Amino acid sequence: MAADGADRILVAGGGIGGLAAALALARAGRRVAVLEQAAEIGEIGAGIQLGPNAFNAFDALGVGPLARSRAVYVERMAMMDAVDGSTVASLPVGDAFRARFGNPYAVIHRADAHGSLLDGVRARGDIELLTSTRIERVEQTGAQVVAIDQHGVRHAGAAVIACDGVRSAVRAQYVGDPVRVSGHVVYRAVVEAADFPADLRWNAPVVWSGPDCHLVHYPLRGGEQYNVVVTFHSREREEWGVREGHPEEVRSYFDGILPQPRQLIDLPKSWKRWATADREPIGRWTYGRATLLGDAAHPMLQYIAQGACMALEDAVTLGEAVRAHGDDLEVAFARYERSRIARTARVVLSAREMGRLYHARGVERLVRNELWRDRPPERFYDALEWLYGWRAETCLAD
Ligand SMILES: Cc1cc2nc3c(=O)[nH]c(=O)nc-3n(C[C@H](O)[C@H](O)[C@H](O)COP(=O)(O)OP(=O)(O)OC[C@H]3O[C@@H](n4cnc5c(N)ncnc54)[C@H](O)[C@@H]3O)c2cc1C
Repeated sequence: MAADGADRILVAGGGIGGLAAALALARAGRRVAVLEQAAEIGEIGAGIQLGPNAFNAFDALGVGPLARSRAVYVERMAMMDAVDGSTVASLPVGDAFRARFGNPYAVIHRADAHGSLLDGVRARGDIELLTSTRIERVEQTGAQVVAIDQHGVRHAGAAVIACDGVRSAVRAQYVGDPVRVSGHVVYRAVVEAADFPADLRWNAPVVWSGPDCHLVHYPLRGGEQYNVVVTFHSREREEWGVREGHPEEVRSYFDGILPQPRQLIDLPKSWKRWATADREPIGRWTYGRATLLGDAAHPMLQYIAQGACMALEDAVTLGEAVRAHGDDLEVAFARYERSRIARTARVVLSAREMGRLYHARGVERLVRNELWRDRPPERFYDALEWLYGWRAETCLAD
């Protein structure tokens, strides 16, 4: 073992993808250092949905019981028409769903999903965590990489995994492709249960679809809080980014929506505002001893609720590839990306299509409302097999 840590794998970014990658690599027998730009490793206050594939990945990372204990198990997923109140789709996710996919569908506070991974990392005691360390550039010579941070400090390792999110510095260095700003703006907030309307307390992630907009709500933390997310097509020319939101802006986008879902926009005391973006899927993630993972590899729109789930799957797959080819990281990375690129590209493209359905107007809305009418759950499950049927045991392509 090199005294300077040159045999360790560097993970740039300590989000869900980065911590999952660190756990997976450590479980595959590698030394790992996580380099995170923030002063503290943490997550924003908002919820995420977790498909059964995410729980399969949590199990493979050794933190399944922790994540399960912090999740809220929903009864169904629902899509409502926010203009006439009709049910567009209602998909039960109880026993039959669990039996089909081997795991539940759940919602969770982001901090609790991330915290489960962080607890797993800390419990091992062998993963270095460096904060206030923003990686700006990677240099490679032979079997060594050096990640250089904002202070010019050089962090040596055997490889770097870029888990630095949608604005990845490592992807900018090796790929240099533009973000594809959607023009869709998301406002997110968490509301205490006491302030949440009784007629919206459904134990389900509910999407109210309107023309060029939609609203989402679901319970968090055993029903003590509710996640509220509203999305609209902006009138402004947007640039990708996050900032504080303004209630007046939200209110100006939801005319023509029924009072029941519309009351959601008056609930939060403060909002965070995301101007969202994705990127075109790319056919190569690995550049020598640097490879991409999570949003750095496949940033996507949120309409299919799978970005974090895919980051978890990536991490497990990377760990398995390193376990299989540990002595040759370049071969391991090639196998990892071969196992992941088509699948994650399908999710990126499906998310765009789902956004179109969510926001359909006019005749397209009528088509959307006919699409899933009276469809039995088994047909939904068949259609979702490719997504939710992922298994850690079979994650590596030949
Ligand atoms: C509105 C919305 C709703 C969503 N809902 C869901 C959902 O329901 N289900 C789901 O599965 N996914 C959902 N997602 C997607 C999910 O949030 C992301 O896919 C996931 O967080 C990606 O994780 P990541 O670790 O790859 O990136 P990030 O979460 O972006 O983490 C990147 C980390 O790297 C750090 N970092 C950045 N640059 C550097 C650098 N240069 N050097 C060092 N550190 C750096 C950051 O500080 C951060 O800690 C949603 C996203 C949005 C916007």
